[in-house]
Amino acid sequence: MARGKKLYEGKAKVLYQGPEPGTLIQYFKDDATAFNAEKKDVIEGKGVLNNRLSEYFMTGLNAVGVPTHFIRALNMREQLVRQAEIIPLEVIVRNYAAGTLAKRLGLEEGVALPRPIIEFCYKDDSLGDPLVAEEHIIAFGWASQQDLDDMVALALRVNDFLSGVMYGVGIRVADFKIEIGRVWDNDFQRLIVADEISPDSCRLWDIKTGEKLDKDVFRRDLGSLTEAYTEVARRLGVLPTNAPQMGKPTLVN
Ligand code: 5GP
Repeated sequence: MARGKKLYEGKAKVLYQGPEPGTLIQYFKDDATAFNAEKKDVIEGKGVLNNRLSEYFMTGLNAVGVPTHFIRALNMREQLVRQAEIIPLEVIVRNYAAGTLAKRLGLEEGVALPRPIIEFCYKDDSLGDPLVAEEHIIAFGWASQQDLDDMVALALRVNDFLSGVMYGVGIRVADFKIEIGRVWDNDFQRLIVADEISPDSCRLWDIKTGEKLDKDVFRRDLGSLTEAYTEVARRLGVLPTNAPQMGKPTLVN
């Protein structure tokens, strides 16, 4: 499919104009960044794995009635998505203490949280995506109270879906980040899950061994990122190969 003009290039993806109005082509790069791009590398194959994994999660979400921007896969690195007006917030859902939450509150990494906790960060690289309260979001007009309620509901549904799917293949979803966008169907506005859902934006831990299967492998120099992401794709039965393999997920006891 012929790509239109480049509209945006981020740290891990590029967005091109899609073939029809209201569509975009999302291209997954091999670039890996962490700590607000202070640590950088190019990891061969990461884009292919994230494209496939994001397709898998978004297709599943669409199928269970959680609306996403995903339309269809195009090739190993590109997918056709619906254009959405991205709300400038990272929506983080946490099931286990890790990362900035563990640091901020002095919690031991790996402790189960009493209930899923949702946090919002304002998307601004120059500020390091700071944590914000609902008060800031409403006061600065980034989203309305109704949007916020809808975002929380969407985030919890994504959490239930992701946690369930990953539990089936022996992986714990400690936390993840999603981005949400607005779309209009005639005059009716609704929110959909946009961006990507991949090991770049989740913390995934092997339930038995605690092994990290996500971007922390890169952030903390814990080994091969490609091997970790490949293991996630393998367990889900969506390992990208030249002849795409669409096997069943491998159940881990
Ligand atoms: P933390 O706040 O602990 O650094 O991150 C919480 C979760 O959100 C982690 O799963 C992390 O991967 C994800 N996350 C937070 N900020 C970003 C970001 O800017 N990009 C991506 N891809 N994921 C993020």
